[in-house]
Amino acid sequence: MNLLIMGPPGAGKGTQAERLVKELNITHISTGDMFRAAIANGTEMGLKAKEYMDKGALVPDEVVIGMVKDRLQEEDCKKGFLLDGFPRTVEQAKALDETLKELNIELDGVINIEVPMEKLMARLTGRRVCKQCGASFHVIFNPPKEEGKCDACGGELYQRSDDNEESVGTRLNAYMEKTQPLIDYYKKQGNLKNINGDQEINKVLEDILAAVK
Ligand code: ADP
Ligand code: AMP
Repeated sequence: MNLLIMGPPGAGKGTQAERLVKELNITHISTGDMFRAAIANGTEMGLKAKEYMDKGALVPDEVVIGMVKDRLQEEDCKKGFLLDGFPRTVEQAKALDETLKELNIELDGVINIEVPMEKLMARLTGRRVCKQCGASFHVIFNPPKEEGKCDACGGELYQRSDDNEESVGTRLNAYMEKTQPLIDYYKKQGNLKNINGDQEINKVLEDILAAVK
């Protein structure tokens, strides 16, 4: 199954993706995670992406598109994949359509997680992420069993440098201006599945699975 998950920053894409890929045995492709790995590895692309990410701005389309195109051709995508955080602009969505056509791959569904905008700031500033496996927690809404430690792998939890109020503000504006138009784009393609993300984490997962199966 080939899926795409979208929604504003903090909607719960990563949280749901982590659970969905296990349930459906597919590969998780998160462009944000790919950039953070490139930064950690000190690559040239990582250095370039970091300038944009720290501010909360989108990384230029040509950088992201090339990276995803290469990633989709790797062996582990053959069993199915879940794209998370890409596309984020109409340009990226068009490039994805072309790439999928070239590779003879069809998207089985586009999951759109809906959460009221006023709830996103608190979700993002309280987010804590595992350094080792990338699992996402929240100091209040989804706390780990042991403070500062990942439930899944025992890794250390940290706060992303872009999860501060200023950066989140810029990211939410970038979402409204550049990414929200994609809802219409995929609605027209006929495979959009709107999901209420303002519910308990397991209930959101249940609704997504019911929508895609
Ligand atoms: P995204 O990948 O869409 O940016 P995350 O999955 O990282 O978002 O979730 C953002 C924050 O909100 C995290 O701290 C996460 O634990 C929390 N969160 C995710 N889903 C829910 C939910 N259904 N209710 C409350 N908090 C949630
Ligand atoms: P995320 O982990 O999805 O919240 O993404 C973190 C940051 O990475 C974003 O604020 C952007 O700077 C960058 N990024 C991730 N995916 C994309 C994308 N598809 N297009 C442009 N920038 C992206």
